[in-house]
Amino acid sequence: MHDLELDVCVVGGGPAGALAAFRLATLGHRVCLLERQVFPRPQVGESLSPGIWPLLDSAGLGELISSTSFRAPGHTLLCWAESEPQLLPSDSRAGALLVDRGKFDALLLEAARQAGVYVVQPAQARVTRTPKGWQIFADGVGRFNISAKALVDAAGRKSCLGGRRVAFSPRTIALWAHLDANHDCATRVEAIPEGWLWAAPIADDKVSLLFFCDPSHIRRSSGGDLERLLRERMTKTVLFSGFAQATFSRSVAARDATCTYATEPIGADYIMIGEANYSLDPLSSTGVEKALQSALTGAAVVNTLINHPERSNLCTQFYRDRQHEVVNTHIVWMNQYYREVQRHAGKPFWNLRCASSIPRPNVLLSKRPKQPRLTTLVRLAPEVSLTREACVIDDEIARRPGIRAPSLVRPLVFLNGIEVGLLLADLAANATWQDLLVSWSRYIPPASAQRVAKWLWEKRILCEASLCADL
Ligand SMILES: Cc1cc2nc3c(=O)[nH]c(=O)nc-3n(C[C@H](O)[C@H](O)[C@H](O)COP(=O)(O)OP(=O)(O)OC[C@H]3O[C@@H](n4cnc5c(N)ncnc54)[C@H](O)[C@@H]3O)c2cc1C
Repeated sequence: MHDLELDVCVVGGGPAGALAAFRLATLGHRVCLLERQVFPRPQVGESLSPGIWPLLDSAGLGELISSTSFRAPGHTLLCWAESEPQLLPSDSRAGALLVDRGKFDALLLEAARQAGVYVVQPAQARVTRTPKGWQIFADGVGRFNISAKALVDAAGRKSCLGGRRVAFSPRTIALWAHLDANHDCATRVEAIPEGWLWAAPIADDKVSLLFFCDPSHIRRSSGGDLERLLRERMTKTVLFSGFAQATFSRSVAARDATCTYATEPIGADYIMIGEANYSLDPLSSTGVEKALQSALTGAAVVNTLINHPERSNLCTQFYRDRQHEVVNTHIVWMNQYYREVQRHAGKPFWNLRCASSIPRPNVLLSKRPKQPRLTTLVRLAPEVSLTREACVIDDEIARRPGIRAPSLVRPLVFLNGIEVGLLLADLAANATWQDLLVSWSRYIPPASAQRVAKWLWEKRILCEASLCADL
């Protein structure tokens, strides 16, 4: 039995766990990571959204991934709203990536190891809370008894901490296969009466294939033979019939693809990140991006909990708010996207997903306001409040001046790195547009002052003083 005493124990070596461990180690914490599987391991989720790049770059890992021979998605064939295929050019998803997740996840985990993370693999973790902190038993490559101040649950949608999860989509199952094929390179997506199909080449001789449907469809129609069901569903399609007879290089697996979120994603000494925090609809291809995002935010939260335990409530509120934002935005997006498939309206799969229309949370603004003149008197719009908001500063959660406004989906602290709340607090009574630009140019370059002021004006956060008085 090996005994280890550490600051942080991360359970799970997927993208979320590897990136959070990497970041915490570079911040000077003693970190270990436990992963139960040997890498490279097969993992679903091979189409990555362009939003991964700023996240990887901010951690200094962008070049590691861009220099590996992963593929750009190329053009996409789509039968979604229309039954006729549409060709989306490759630049419609510029920056997106198709990856072999076995390879992608192994690269990130190796980067964590290189950064000083003590990686124990394969090792199945069992966690218990003690009055002194966390006790983690790991069994696999050896037997480990680990005590840690903070626990990061990055164990994927099953989570190592358990706890209540709320589903925010109908239950969905994905059948997943790899085709041994040199098929034409287009990514393809097609809505069919029973669900939808996706395929993309993730290597020269490997195509990844997914079929999403209701669990009841599998129970009723597969007779226990998932491969037969998958082949049958492809035969009558426009884009997938050519794959119906292809050789499968691995047996067809079923994966839960329901959207869920954890109701207690954070406490004073633990955090859930990646899919342990929330799982999104694979239709969006943003699962890995959001896993990386929650890993970086989660690392800043854990860093704060260790360095400033007195900020525990601030961290909890901040992390919960970020979770709610992602989930709420995703619900709106899913609702709109599934409703585009009117041609299958009435079929149970589509009925369940198109039924309700959820209004957008932010106010849709009418026409842009007329540009102010230099002599226009400006002020803060009456419905805008100057607040103090939690945000990430230098890898810690802290409060800074911010604003809340009906035109903003979330409170705003920074706009392109500029602290907007500080500028607005400096807005003098009876200031003209010119006064405002001159005053802000004392703190930031004049061109930035112009840009920030224009953005705030268009968002109706700033308005004409006389007009406001009339409201
Ligand atoms: C059908 C389907 C299709 C998807 N398609 C896409 C897509 O196209 N694009 C996209 O971006 N996302 C997609 N996703 C989502 C994507 O797969 C996830 O967002 C991503 O894998 C989350 O990363 P993670 O690190 O949180 O979890 P994971 O990648 O699941 O990693 C968790 C790790 O924890 C380990 N683990 C679990 N329990 C323990 C334990 N007790 N001890 C030790 N180790 C443990 C597991 O072995 C695993 O390696 C899809 C998901 C599904 C279900």
